[in-house]
Amino acid sequence: MLSAMRSEIVIIGGGVIGCASAAIMASRGARVLLVERTDIAAGASGRNLGAIQHPFDPALAPLYHESLSRYRALADGSGEFSIASEPAGLLLLNRDEEEAAAQVERQREAVPELDPVLLGPDDVARLEPSLSPGFAAVRLSTGFPVPPASATMAWARLAEERGARIRLGQAARPVVENGAVAGVELADGSQIGADRVLVAAGPWTPELLDPSGGWTRIRATWGVTVQLRLDGAAPTHIVEEDEVDTINRSHTATAHAVAAGDGDPPSLFSLASAGGLSTLGSTFLPAEPDPSRVAALLLRRGVEFLPAIGDAEVVERRLCARPQSIDGRPFIGAVPGVRGLFVCAGHGPWGISTGPASAAIAARAILDGTAPPPELSAGRRL
Ligand SMILES: Cc1cc2nc3c(=O)[nH]c(=O)nc-3n(C[C@H](O)[C@H](O)[C@H](O)COP(=O)(O)OP(=O)(O)OC[C@H]3O[C@@H](n4cnc5c(N)ncnc54)[C@H](O)[C@@H]3O)c2cc1C
Repeated sequence: MLSAMRSEIVIIGGGVIGCASAAIMASRGARVLLVERTDIAAGASGRNLGAIQHPFDPALAPLYHESLSRYRALADGSGEFSIASEPAGLLLLNRDEEEAAAQVERQREAVPELDPVLLGPDDVARLEPSLSPGFAAVRLSTGFPVPPASATMAWARLAEERGARIRLGQAARPVVENGAVAGVELADGSQIGADRVLVAAGPWTPELLDPSGGWTRIRATWGVTVQLRLDGAAPTHIVEEDEVDTINRSHTATAHAVAAGDGDPPSLFSLASAGGLSTLGSTFLPAEPDPSRVAALLLRRGVEFLPAIGDAEVVERRLCARPQSIDGRPFIGAVPGVRGLFVCAGHGPWGISTGPASAAIAARAILDGTAPPPELSAGRRL
């Protein structure tokens, strides 16, 4: 029995997507309820690297640019969230200067707007003296470091200020009757009526769209990060191993894991520093790993890139799952076959960087019936 308490729109999931969607729809006057099973930013939205950066995919680049504008507006109205006016810059590190030179050519072709520049080891040492000597790098004009949970917390606060209600500590699932959404059922068995439901549950989205397991367009890739206090040794750039433009290929994780066999799980060095803490990443694993084992590996590898990691205070070891879609792009908009059911999920490694613009597309689909761009639509052929 659906309760008399009705919401126009229920959002399932309090990550960056759910919270930004709630804020955007509430600003349009919609009556919004967001239901989160644990806490705001409990998943990847609170445990990511904290880098707002270009996603190396022409279909996602407009989402990054629009998200940056939305973050600037968010920062203007918030005492807690801030974003720099210029990017800190992204350094893709490579021990082999010739490979770095080849990479810079590829990046000039692929993302000329990021003004790729080749840096020799002396330039790298001058820009970031705490890095190990001998690295060449490609510098890209992108990368805004922010504390990992800050964007999502700020969207949630804005959503509430605009009148959205947030209910924490209860899992929800859509209730579908006669081919149309009727509301959501909470874990305690109570139900809330709604004629539109947005599923923004990150890697848990598939089980909510189709409990029988038939919707398999998103799966989890597990990431471990370590938060450190590096103080004066924290690089000002976001620094990453020179493979970052490949991390959104959906099979990279599996291929790496298989290649690694029983040895150390594969990882890519990355480090972003904001708000006095540095976040060291990360892994792209198809199964949930043991975080302390992986954290030890990250620290060991990290020292090769930045010796000060060896002496840094470890503040926290963190595990979370990315919502990795089959083709590396999110699924946004109406879910075919169920009237009133919408989705916005599958942002893989770029959800903080592209989430607010995705949320705006979802909001327009829900409130105005606008179709998302075909390459992002929930019902696209793969
Ligand atoms: C290690 C790591 C580093 C990353 N670094 C970056 C980065 O630097 N830059 C970047 O742009 N992106 C990064 N990402 C990716 C980014 O974090 C994700 O794409 C993004 O956070 C996904 O947001 P979301 O809202 O879709 O999902 P989530 O953050 O997973 O949120 C989904 C929420 O739904 C809730 N939920 C699930 N099921 C239910 C239910 N039945 N009822 C109610 N609530 C439910 C969960 O508790 C969760 O809070 C990183 C990811 C990882 C794992």
